[in-house]
Amino acid sequence: MTEPISPGAAPIRVAVLGAAGRMGATTCAAIEAAGDLELVARVTRDDDVAAAVREAGAQVAVDFTVPGATEANVHALLDAGVHAVVGATGWTDASRGRVSEHLARANADRPDDAGLGVVIAPNFGLSAVLAMRFAAQAAKYFESAEIVELHHPDKVDAPSGTARHTAAAIAAARAEAGLGPMPDATAAGHEARGADVDGVRVHAVRLRGLVAHEEVLLGNPGEQLVIRQDSFDRVSFMPGVLLAVRSVVSRPGLTVGLEHLLDLG
Ligand code: NAD
Repeated sequence: MTEPISPGAAPIRVAVLGAAGRMGATTCAAIEAAGDLELVARVTRDDDVAAAVREAGAQVAVDFTVPGATEANVHALLDAGVHAVVGATGWTDASRGRVSEHLARANADRPDDAGLGVVIAPNFGLSAVLAMRFAAQAAKYFESAEIVELHHPDKVDAPSGTARHTAAAIAAARAEAGLGPMPDATAAGHEARGADVDGVRVHAVRLRGLVAHEEVLLGNPGEQLVIRQDSFDRVSFMPGVLLAVRSVVSRPGLTVGLEHLLDLG
């Protein structure tokens, strides 16, 4: 993703939370390499988040910490008047709701063009977000749809959050088009049909050597469409992270999902 050209504009001052972690370290490197962004703080586990970002004069903070810490971090950032871009997982409707309420309170006293923003993206990978969107667009034209998600064996959850989101998007598109259940003659009690996510079957493979991959299979009599995305390295998340950093400063309120920041028509 190219950097926006705005000659003379001051760089956006960015802090990274979880800076010593795998994603945090990759994010620090990506920010340092971007001419329009300035890395002003590497916040690690023992730091006081609000004090660290205030002291550094950060405008935006990126959170790649852990599910147990990320919500408290976002509230601390909002109290410090800092926009947040969140990649850490573990968010629920309830925790997102609390952030929305916090944003409404914080922004009530601010002019419209200075409102705080939070972007939470369960997946910053452009290929994953696009695969999800293309699958949802195609879903209404096919009788059957199934998802195979493939990951490294150290992953603790199954199916992946991205596969769940993809299944939900396919199910919503099918429902909107008035499609009923998919054909499936499997008798009850058989165990190899994957998880049922909103009526869409999702199969999880865990294999040493893999990183993060997803395949959506769409079938009709006599034809098949396969949409596949592969994330080979965590650098693949960086264009999405940097897009969110650049966008959040002029996007007050809560945004959930990178797709809202992309021009997808
Ligand atoms: P990691 O374990 O390598 O890094 C997490 C870091 O956060 C560790 O260094 C830990 O010490 C630190 N930490 C924990 N609590 C903290 C706190 N309160 N303040 C500051 N730092 C704290 O994990 P990772 O592989 O870098 O992944 C981090 C998170 O990002 C996970 O939730 C993972 O699922 C998620 N993730 C999201 C995406 C995405 O596209 N949204 C992509 C990859 C990973």
